[in-house]
Amino acid sequence: MQTERKIHVSDGWTLFLDRDGVINKKIDSDYVRDWSSFYFLIDIPKIFQILNTIFSRVIIISNQQGIGKKLMTISDLINLHNIMINTIQNVDGEIDSIYCCPHLQENNCNCRKPNPGMLQRSIQQFPDIQLKKSIFIGDSLSDIRLGLSQGLVTVYLGDSPRLQEIANYHFPDLKMFMRNLIINK
Ligand SMILES: [Mg+2]
Repeated sequence: MQTERKIHVSDGWTLFLDRDGVINKKIDSDYVRDWSSFYFLIDIPKIFQILNTIFSRVIIISNQQGIGKKLMTISDLINLHNIMINTIQNVDGEIDSIYCCPHLQENNCNCRKPNPGMLQRSIQQFPDIQLKKSIFIGDSLSDIRLGLSQGLVTVYLGDSPRLQEIANYHFPDLKMFMRNLIINK
């Protein structure tokens, strides 16, 4: 569904982002295991600097089943994220927090998207977050389902007609999302 192309936000809005396929290039049928296979998508990390001027908080929420599959370790993931955060900070961008689910799908945990565990943890860490003043951006059904079930504005990045249909908005990439924001201060 796309009732209008422009998304209106005002003071106090939070932006939740998926990682693979939104911030960095997704690897088909594999996992981004370390910095050598991590490639920022176009104009990221510069986009973060602008997002920080619009949103009160910018938070990444990511399923990382590669850890559960023992293809990578938690410390591999932390090392990768430290480099990613530093690269973004070098252009004055900031990420408030990153939450990752390391579990396997068959574990049926509460944190793996589309379950709400990571979103709930973010609210514990930042009690000022209002889900009704939050946007969830992702490139998978699990992202959109999580956002819709918790009452966030959902934005799908990608070309699947089905996901374009169920998300509140859709754009080809983060840059186009940003260009279509209207900031009501
Ligand atoms: Mg993704």
